[in-house]
Amino acid sequence: SEHSAGTPTGPIELPGYAHVYSGKVRDLYAPLDDSGAPRDDRVLLVASDRISAYDYILSTPIPDKGKVLTQLSLWWFEQLESLVLNHIVSTDVPDAVAGRAVLVERLDMVPIECVARAYLTGGGLAEYEASGTVSGLELPPGLVDASKFDQPLFTPSTKAPFGEHDQPMPYADVVTEVGADRAAQLRDLTVRILARGNEIAAPRGILIADTKVEFGYRADGTVVLADEVLTPDSSRFWPAADWEPGRRQASYDKQFVRDWLTSPASGWDRNSGAEPPALPDDVVEQTRAKYVEAYEALTGRTFS
Ligand code: ATP
Ligand code: MG
Repeated sequence: SEHSAGTPTGPIELPGYAHVYSGKVRDLYAPLDDSGAPRDDRVLLVASDRISAYDYILSTPIPDKGKVLTQLSLWWFEQLESLVLNHIVSTDVPDAVAGRAVLVERLDMVPIECVARAYLTGGGLAEYEASGTVSGLELPPGLVDASKFDQPLFTPSTKAPFGEHDQPMPYADVVTEVGADRAAQLRDLTVRILARGNEIAAPRGILIADTKVEFGYRADGTVVLADEVLTPDSSRFWPAADWEPGRRQASYDKQFVRDWLTSPASGWDRNSGAEPPALPDDVVEQTRAKYVEAYEALTGRTFS
């Protein structure tokens, strides 16, 4: 067949661990203690090769995607160490998930998607065109798709269940949810992570238009950066050389997938409610290459 065979990598049996949850991309396990009981203070966070597009988890995995995302996040956590605490405990993980798993502190996750935007696009652009605001913040007139803000904006959203869309969350609602001090802390950390990210990424040829980070609380209330950070899945990466305000910028990594899915070649009607078809090998390979390219450009390392 012209389509790649294969189903998305689901959670696997890991001796010494109990599967506790699967998100769109990651499978979470609790390590078992000496008595065989799951520990409640640690999580093995395993990034699969699953990829989502147009609100579907595709049936075709992208080889090495989980490794690339895990290694890139680890690199960023280190770059951001002076700015924010992170959840990483150890990279010593079972061989079956080598390279794509990390052992982390199990945190009480903040129920807010902390989003920062350095450039106007996507949902932010739609709101601006309708009302002149982004996340309720008044912005000057004349901005266009991909305009750069003077400072990154904090544009939090609710965490919607899978299949539903996250809703923009006014800052006042964040204050109601977590209190004024924590709201300000989450906002400042989110904005600084993106600003620092762009300082590091721009000379390496990548603009990070916007990003979503997740924080959690330790038992003592300390705020810690969790999940993944500044990856192509959690952020919009743009090739710096092609940046041109006034038009839609190509998505760095998923563009091949989106272009193919919406082309006649896929035979798929986005509005039909049907599952998207399997991806052809060349789309898989081009997409994999983009993830690897982002990793190599940012870290200066070779992906192997
Ligand atoms: P969700 O699972 O919320 O629908 P998602 O599909 O993007 O989002 P994945 O990235 O696949 O989720 O899975 C990661 C899950 O692990 C998320 O629910 C995230 O909140 C959670 N998580 C990440 N880091 C931690 C941590 N240190 N402690 C507890 N949970 C965490
Ligand atoms: Mg996620």
